[in-house]
Parts: sequence; C-alpha cells; structure tokens
Amino acid sequence: MARPDGARRPQDSPVRAAGAQPAAPCPCGSPCAYRTCCEPIHDGAPAPSAEALMRSRYSAFVLGDEDHLFRSWHPRTRPPGPYCHPGTQWLGLRIESTAGGGPGDEEGEVSFTARYRTGDGRGGVVEDELVERSRFVRRGGRWVYLEALDHSGV
Ligand SMILES: [Zn+2]
Repeated sequence: MARPDGARRPQDSPVRAAGAQPAAPCPCGSPCAYRTCCEPIHDGAPAPSAEALMRSRYSAFVLGDEDHLFRSWHPRTRPPGPYCHPGTQWLGLRIESTAGGGPGDEEGEVSFTARYRTGDGRGGVVEDELVERSRFVRRGGRWVYLEALDHSGV
C-alpha cells in the first residue's frame, strides 16, 4: 500500500504505537526480542522465509498492525479489511511444521496452532485454537500469504 508520506519512520510505527516493546520477547513466541524478530518485517523488510512471514503476520494480529496484514496478503486472495477483531485476544503461536518456503523456494507451507480468547456471544469468554495449514508464495521476490489449505477454529 502506498504511503502518502513515503517511507515509514521508525517512530511512526503503528506497532510501537500499539504498545509493543522492541526489547520484549516477540509476540510470535520466538526466543528472540521483538526488535530482532518481527519488528523489522513489520517495518517493511522482506521476510527471509515463509515461516518468518507467518510469524510476522501472527504478531501483526496480536499488535493490531492492519497495514502489515494488508501488505503481506496476496492481492488475489486478500479480503477487504479490517483484519483484526477487537474482541479476539491472541494467546500464543506454535509452528507445527513447514514445507518449502526457504531461500531457494517460490512456494511454502506452514502448519501452526494459534490459541485465542474471544467472546462467546452470550457475555462470556471462550478459549479455543485455530489450527491451519497456510500456503505462501513469493511475489516480486517477497513472501506473501496466499491461502489456508485447511483449518479449524475461528
Ligand atoms: Zn517474531
């Protein structure tokens, strides 16, 4: 998405505005700090692998980074936003397996489980899991999310 003011300056990051601390553990659950994990990808750096893009998209859901979710979604399959649901709180991500999606690949798959808490529609709260196998493709040299091959939950 083109920005009217050109490149994003770090202090303008909507992610940081949402309260993510660069030195804190990354929301995606990796052992790395946010600033060395998903933050550079949120700030526009290409994801080095399909798994890294998947992680950055999960972190974007946690942090409410609509812009990153838009940019990292293939235009052919991208629904209209907004993508984040204010009533859904993401609790954790587990990468189950990956296939392809590396430096020499044009396609990749990432299977993951994401736990979340959301309203049950009757004033209560439920916790559940989203289990999905996602397909990613390289577009213009950058990994983008194409589609869910199968999923359950949400
Ligand atoms: Zn991360």
